[in-house]
Amino acid sequence: MICPDCGTILKDSAKFCTNCGYQMNDLNRPTQSSPKKLYRSRNNQMIAGVCAGLADYMGEDPTLVRLITVLLLLFTGGSVAIAYLIAMFVIPEEPIKMKSEQPLTS
Ligand SMILES: [Zn+2]
Repeated sequence: MICPDCGTILKDSAKFCTNCGYQMNDLNRPTQSSPKKLYRSRNNQMIAGVCAGLADYMGEDPTLVRLITVLLLLFTGGSVAIAYLIAMFVIPEEPIKMKSEQPLTS
């Protein structure tokens, strides 16, 4: 691998750059510590936050998901409403976000 900081070629197992001391570990570490979970949105809900939660999960616009839901509702004649009701009970509500997580390693 190559040090992104100074360009020195390093062993793939290297944890630090031998030239500048850049911490190579940071590159391999995923930015999100936990896998993405499906939750009902707490702060962006119209009925039960299912649409906003789904949108958040898929990285889509909540408005777009609501629009699709409403369109499906019109075309399917109510089965989406049942699915929504089921989702309301099945999908947990979004947990209250912690202010800031202190890294355990020092
Ligand atoms: Zn370096």
